[in-house]
Amino acid sequence: MTNFQTLFDKQDWEQVKSSIYAKTETDVEKALSSSKRTLEDFKALISPAALPYLESMARLSRQTTLKRFGKTIQLFAPMYLSNECQNICTYCGFSFDNKVKRRTLTDEEILQEASVIKQMGFDHILLVTGEANHTVHVDYFKNAIRLLRPHFANISIEVQPLEQHEYEALIPEGLYSVLVYQETYHKERYKTYHPKGKKANFYYRLETPDRLGKAQIHKIGLGALLGLEDWRTDSFFCAFHLDYLQKTYWQTKYSVSFPRIRPAEGITAPEYIITDRELVQLICAYRLFSEEVELSMSTRESEKFRNHILSLGITTISAGSKTNPGGYAVEPDTLEQFEISDERSPQEMAQVITDQGYEPVWKDWDRSYWG
Ligand code: SF4
Repeated sequence: MTNFQTLFDKQDWEQVKSSIYAKTETDVEKALSSSKRTLEDFKALISPAALPYLESMARLSRQTTLKRFGKTIQLFAPMYLSNECQNICTYCGFSFDNKVKRRTLTDEEILQEASVIKQMGFDHILLVTGEANHTVHVDYFKNAIRLLRPHFANISIEVQPLEQHEYEALIPEGLYSVLVYQETYHKERYKTYHPKGKKANFYYRLETPDRLGKAQIHKIGLGALLGLEDWRTDSFFCAFHLDYLQKTYWQTKYSVSFPRIRPAEGITAPEYIITDRELVQLICAYRLFSEEVELSMSTRESEKFRNHILSLGITTISAGSKTNPGGYAVEPDTLEQFEISDERSPQEMAQVITDQGYEPVWKDWDRSYWG
């Protein structure tokens, strides 16, 4: 059976990059008028040649999103369970070489945090950890999901990549979706950003969505960390990955996120910049490429940007987020993974959504429907 690595290894980063930058206005117009868009169309839509077409892209993206998702925006909250991490990731505040106080939440603390998040109105929670396999492992996740399942309709995780059988053990406990971002699809640059720890294994991470698909998870979240490499080329590879997964594990749902590197303790500024306009272009390009993919936006982005993007293709948004373990109730002053930009409360965000004529949805899908 083919896996993504086999397809990925046939691609050459520099050739892909050149082909994106070589796209012309004719390619963009062809992509815009197409009813079923290909990966070549996606390249055209993220190319510099598409920037003058941003208004048309935004209009089409809005229409397509409305048709598929209606006037709804889902809300979720991240809950950081641990900042222990054995990896060195040069862009992250939790990196092993960053001398900060480490904390992993106990059962009691998890429930304390859950109670505050629940009071904010959330029914969909994303559990986040670093990678510390001796303390934050499958049994820890299983226990956390068991504790939280009575309180939340949807539980997702963004933790270290696991084995297929480990995902299979968590799904019956109530695990709904898994987010695993490749960070960058540039194999050599990946090594410089991830010099130590299990995360240094590029291919193990790349193959994680395949293991999730085989485990028959309900939803997989993909993404590239924008700022590590040329955003256009990284986004092409992410779309290529999405396309492969949608065709191979067609019963699974997918989401894509667009994290831009944010300031954090001990990290330097990103080398590759994506402007606000280009980020809008990228979001619209994903929507035009895939009608059914969920597009998610975090509080990394500013109030102004998030207000603007709400009606252009985004389907899921976080609000009131804390990016430190215990950040909601237990110990609000511990080190954050990154600084958030939009500090509005979930209720304020819900009001903004309502004011734009959309309905804020506090849960993704009721568990009773998927058994
Ligand atoms: S990005 Fe994740 S794996 Fe890397 S240092 Fe941060 S918490 Fe650890």
